[in-house]
Amino acid sequence: DIETKWSKVDEYIYNLLVQSDEVLEKALEANEEAGLPSIDVAPNQGKMLYLLARIKGAQRILEMGTLGGYSTIWLARALPENGRLVSLELDPIHAKVAQSNIDRAGLSACVEIQVGEALDSLDKLVEQYEIFDMIFIDADKVNNPHYLQYALQFSRPGTLIIFDNVVREGEIIDGDSTDSSIQATRTLFQMIAKEPRLVSTAIQTVGGKGYDGFAFALVTE
Ligand code: SAM
Repeated sequence: DIETKWSKVDEYIYNLLVQSDEVLEKALEANEEAGLPSIDVAPNQGKMLYLLARIKGAQRILEMGTLGGYSTIWLARALPENGRLVSLELDPIHAKVAQSNIDRAGLSACVEIQVGEALDSLDKLVEQYEIFDMIFIDADKVNNPHYLQYALQFSRPGTLIIFDNVVREGEIIDGDSTDSSIQATRTLFQMIAKEPRLVSTAIQTVGGKGYDGFAFALVTE
């Protein structure tokens, strides 16, 4: 069936262009052993985030939603030596597993996980006048409209903001959806569309992780 084909193509891409990587495979194993849900980005998507961070020349990256640090490792690997990544995670168990995966990846010097409600951590980052070159938003989807507002506060012209899971098997076009994540994502799209500082698009994705999508917004002023 079609989903099997998506998975096979992911595998083909993985084998040729992403390639086996002990640190990342160990991270996924550790996540599974600790009982974390396997809702990390797919390997080819992780590499896309890595490539975007490199294209951007990102020195400071903010991530919302660490889980076991799989996307964190991809993003942090793109940083220059003095680069910094701050990742926000609600669940202390997720954060603990992520920290050990990040240590194993040799990235603990540039990655800081902040445990707690993302909205609380974001308030503190605002007080510290933090600025980021790239912001990857992949936490609880109901708060995405709030996360966009914070992301804009941390941005300078050139900051790239990325949201994961904005298509949800096409449910995004259902204005009558009773799913609060879908309604929040629809609000997010409206906000992005109306925000004059943003140039944006969204891309539908298929693969071993199903049918979903990313939204990309570049801050221009
Ligand atoms: N970015 C990760 C990756 O690709 O490897 C996956 C992140 S997973 C989809 C979402 C994470 O957001 C979960 O670990 C969850 O505990 C966390 N989360 C959920 N609600 C949150 C909140 N209010 N504040 C901070 N983190 C939250």
